[in-house]
Amino acid sequence: MPYSIAVDGPAGAGKSTIARKIAELKALVYIDTGAMYRACALKAIRLGISCSDAVSVEKMMEDINIDFKGSDTNSIDRNIFLDGEDVSSLIRTPDVSKGASDISALSSVRIRMVELQRKMAEGYNVILDGRDIGTFVLPNADLKIFLTASADERARRRLDEMRAKGDMISDFEDVKRDIEYRDHNDSNRSLAPLRKAEDAVEIDTTRMSIEQVVEAVCKLIVIKC
Ligand code: C5P
Repeated sequence: MPYSIAVDGPAGAGKSTIARKIAELKALVYIDTGAMYRACALKAIRLGISCSDAVSVEKMMEDINIDFKGSDTNSIDRNIFLDGEDVSSLIRTPDVSKGASDISALSSVRIRMVELQRKMAEGYNVILDGRDIGTFVLPNADLKIFLTASADERARRRLDEMRAKGDMISDFEDVKRDIEYRDHNDSNRSLAPLRKAEDAVEIDTTRMSIEQVVEAVCKLIVIKC
């Protein structure tokens, strides 16, 4: 029987770093659900549509194609394609982050993305990371992890990542503000808000190294999957 792992938590808690490592170690299919909401936001921004305009976004969603492609399904380096275009790096800007948080609160977007995510996960050993995986997308996941870290630590990590990618303009306060905006939005929306599932294991990563978190998750996989 294929098994599934849900990794949820606020922005910058290390979900994608950990999910990727686990996918690699255990040969799982990795699905970055945040990237899918980011792709929707990018499309809206390009069309000049506000990411909070429910009516225009619903219309936009009638004609959108989002897919992950790579050398094989099990590769952790699959890129995300929006309407046939590889947008993997274009979706990592602060504007798209904010847009993703706004657009992901709209039902036309969530219904479509959740359906796609469930379809992509079917029949595989999978690890999905996001905000609502354990509570909504895969309520029967074999293992649910809720990753947290203090807002300062999450902002620091995100800034390090941005610096590594050549962004020398954003500063700590900008990044922390963006993270707090998204935390508030993601936790307070009415549809599938960011919540720890009752049966999720919470790991506070503030003072943990990536290796320590990976080790903790691997131990849980042995027990639960
Ligand atoms: O994980 P990432 O930061 O890339 O996600 C971008 C945004 O997409 C989040 O701030 C959140 O609003 C939204 N999202 C969501 N549900 C998910 C994954 C992401 O609402 N499962």
